[in-house]
Order: sequence, then C-alpha cells, then structure tokens
Amino acid sequence: MPESADVIVIGAGVVGCSVAYYLAREGIKVTLLEREAIGSGASAHATGSLSLLGAEFSAGASFEMARASYADFYQLAPELEDATGMDLLYQRRPSLRLALDDEEVDLIRELMVWQEPHVKMHWIDADEVRAIEPRLSPSIVGAMYEDESAQLDSYRFNLALARGAELKGADIIHREVTGLITNGSTVAGVRTASGDVHCDAVVVAAGTWSRAFTPWLGFPVPVRPMKGERLLLNYPGEPLPVLISSPRRGHMISRRDGLTSVGSTGGRDYDRRDLFAGEEFDRQPTESARLELLQRAIDVLPDLERAELVQQLAGSRPLSPDSKPIIGPVPGWDGIYLATGHTTKGIHLGPVTGRIITDYVRHGSTAAVSDMTEFLPDRFADFADADFLVAAQSAEE
Ligand SMILES: Cc1cc2nc3c(=O)[nH]c(=O)nc-3n(C[C@H](O)[C@H](O)[C@H](O)COP(=O)(O)OP(=O)(O)OC[C@H]3O[C@@H](n4cnc5c(N)ncnc54)[C@H](O)[C@@H]3O)c2cc1C
Repeated sequence: MPESADVIVIGAGVVGCSVAYYLAREGIKVTLLEREAIGSGASAHATGSLSLLGAEFSAGASFEMARASYADFYQLAPELEDATGMDLLYQRRPSLRLALDDEEVDLIRELMVWQEPHVKMHWIDADEVRAIEPRLSPSIVGAMYEDESAQLDSYRFNLALARGAELKGADIIHREVTGLITNGSTVAGVRTASGDVHCDAVVVAAGTWSRAFTPWLGFPVPVRPMKGERLLLNYPGEPLPVLISSPRRGHMISRRDGLTSVGSTGGRDYDRRDLFAGEEFDRQPTESARLELLQRAIDVLPDLERAELVQQLAGSRPLSPDSKPIIGPVPGWDGIYLATGHTTKGIHLGPVTGRIITDYVRHGSTAAVSDMTEFLPDRFADFADADFLVAAQSAEE
C-alpha cells in the first residue's frame, strides 16, 4: 500500500470513482480507498437513467449542474469504453414522460413551465403517444416528448471509472477508513484498518455511510439511507423505441443488452419514516416491492404480463435533507472535501462532481457551475436534525 498520496478519496461508488478519475486525469496522485468492493454501494443498483426532466432538479444552479453532467457523458462514455474495453450499454434516445391521470398531467405541465426553454420537448396527446408505441395502456392521457434522454448500466459505469482512474495512475486499495489524521485544522491523512496513509487532501465520497464522518470532522454530514428497489425483466416483445417514465409510476427502459428495467421504489411511495430511513444500507429485496413494481409496469404497458423476472435489485440512496448533493470544502478544515448526498441522481451527477472536486483541489474554486451555494457543505453548518421524509417524498425516481 502506498504510504502517501496527494489526495485520498474514500468510497469507490460512482461518485468516488468519478472524483478519482478526474483528479488522476490532471496528473494528481490519487489513492482511492474502498472498504468492501468497487460498486458495492448504491451505484450498483441504479437504473442509470440520465434524465433532465422530472422533479429531481430545480430551476437555476441545480438544473445547470444536471445539464453540465449530462453533457459530460457525450465524451466520457466513449472515452471510458475506449480506455477499458467495457461496453457501458450507454444509449441516447427520445423519451416519453407519460401521464396516466390528471394529477400526472399537472405534475408534468408544472415543470414544463421552466424546463421547456432549456430542453427540446413538447406535449403530445394520447393518439400521438400510441402512434409511437401502440402497446402502451389506453388510459394514457398524454405525454411530454423529449427529443433526447439517456441511460447506461450504472455498475459497468462504476467499474469503468475505477479502471479508467487506475489507467491514469490512481491506486485503488481495499481498506476501510476508520478515522482522520489531522494537524490543527489541516488534514494530514487517514487511518485505515491496516495502517495510516498520508496525504494533502481527503475527499469523503462514502455514500450513505458518509454520516460516520460527522464526529471525526466535528461538522454535520447529514446523509441518511433511502431504500430503492427495481426489476430487470425478460420481455419477449420488441424493445421499446423510447425511454419511458411517469411521475407516479417510475421508469420502463429497454436496455441495450435486451433486458427491460422497471422501477423504482423510493420516497414517493412511503408515508412511514421507517420504510426509507433505516440506519443501515438495505440490500434486501422485498416481495411487496416486486409486486408493486410489476403492477405499475403492467398498468403502463399491459403486454409486460408476458415478461419474466430476471433480477430484483435493492439498495439505499444517500439522501440529503434537501435532496441536493453536498459537494465542496468542509468549513473549518484545510484540504477536506465532501462529495456525497446525491440522493436519486448520483450516477447522473457523477461526472460533474468529479470535475468540481478536482477544481476545488487544484484552484480552491470551481467554474463548472456558476453558483455553488446550494450544494456547499456550509449550508448544514447549523444542522441539528431534519425531516428527511419531506426530501424523500419529493424524489420521483
Ligand atoms: C433503485 C435505485 C435506482 C437508482 N436510479 C438512479 C438513476 O437512474 N440515475 C441516477 O443518477 N441515480 C440513481 N440512483 C441513485 C444512485 O444510485 C446514487 O445516488 C449513487 O449511486 C450514489 O453514489 P455514491 O458513490 O455516492 O455512493 P455508493 O455507490 O453507495 O458508494 C459509496 C462507497 O463508499 C464505501 N465506503 C463507505 N464507508 C467507507 C469507509 N469508511 N472506508 C472506505 N470505503 C467506504 C462503500 O463501501 C461504497 O462502496 C438509484 C438508486 C437506487 C437504489
């Protein structure tokens, strides 16, 4: 194990691997420490939907960040595929955001008011929807047609970022970080289960586990697990020509490997705190989620009754109190940064997070997003406790 690095990144999910990749690309000596396995957290369970629409992003800096990261994939996906030889199953296709009732019409139209000037999209009626995909339910009222949306396999993406970082000189080591080494207000390294590693900067990208760093930092890292489940189906029909989602019924995507992804359960389903805000990462698939997801999918595309279940995935998203990522320097410290709390969008926001942290490490600021205020850790300086239920229920994924 190297005894020192310029920067130590903690956690090898999509966020940590993306940070390591962009740092290594700048010639910075990075060591990525992972306690379990690359992609053993939320990142392996995600749909990999890279969608600008829906309620996940708000007007202003949040949407600007989402668009920047979406655009990063144009170059990053082929760059990683070339470097690693992996197929990320990346696809860019038109999408439909379906409304099956008046409530969904309102939810979509409300967002269109501010999203329409930024994204190529338009409303289509039920006949136009069925002209695109005749197998969709006759109860569909209409849809928002978006010219382009994207999706990839999040686990492959996670592995490719890790391998890509290694190819650019990063070291990836399987060790749990158990504490920080500090010198006054300056970080000097981390403690691990098998020895100390010294460094000039530390990036905490430990997903739902980032909260454990609160006592070591003496600064709140308010991240809680928000469970989500989804299904991979083997559907004998022709693949769907567009990526499909609806505000209340989730997504339906024909992947490039032929499987159909449906899901996900999340905060919007829960009216009980204990169902999403466990203390631990929860990877236990449940029968209730399986039945609920199948029913929702069949409501949207009745022919999915013929599909067979291939895999049920369960994991916990790193939920922040306002469901926005927590990215940037930790107040009161020199050289410690957070890259966590990405909630339902950590795959989508992985690349821009990597760029932002790299900017902070190199220059002490970033121009990747014009105003970072709503993402910086210092918004939680006075954090005592929060109602995570509100943030969870606002998540549509
Ligand atoms: C069902 C489901 C569907 C989703 N769909 C999408 C989607 O379509 N699009 C999207 O953008 N996002 C989606 N998400 C959300 C996305 O998965 C997360 O936002 C993202 O994976 C968070 O990545 P991360 O790297 O922060 O955390 P993780 O992937 O959880 O990685 C954290 C890593 O840190 C390691 N770690 C923790 N503590 C330590 C320590 N002390 N020392 C060393 N290592 C440590 C862990 O072992 C883990 O490997 C979905 C999530 C779920 C559950």
